[in-house]
Amino acid sequence: MIDLLIQQRTEEKTLVTKKNIRKGTVILQLEGSRTSSPTQYSVQIGQELHIDIPKQFTQKNEDYYWAFLNHSCQPNAFFKNMQLIALTDISENKEITFNYNTTELEMSNPFLCNCKQDHCINNVEGYKFLTPHQKQSIIEHTASYLY
Ligand SMILES: [Zn+2]
Repeated sequence: MIDLLIQQRTEEKTLVTKKNIRKGTVILQLEGSRTSSPTQYSVQIGQELHIDIPKQFTQKNEDYYWAFLNHSCQPNAFFKNMQLIALTDISENKEITFNYNTTELEMSNPFLCNCKQDHCINNVEGYKFLTPHQKQSIIEHTASYLY
């Protein structure tokens, strides 16, 4: 697994890589407890199936670093088969992000995006709430259980 670091930035914790990562690299593997309903931290892995952090979770446990992945509308990683894969080359000390709308049908905690990218979606609520055009624009890295 890749060396990662949790960094506190202005308002939120971020997941940062400690070294350069090449496009296509497996950054981490999703581990945790399976549940049928989403929570603030869970990642959806199938129809009505989500991976969540255990209750006794501590920030020191690297197995659950994925819970600190933030959303971006122009991310540098994506999930496939419970693995987080680098979508681009990622340089050291850079935050790793993925597009929540590519894994989540309906977010348990929708929020206003602040990624400041050109095509920012603003309201991040889950795949279900995207327009057909928005769905099409992320189709390449969208989990197959969503469509
Ligand atoms: Zn955005």
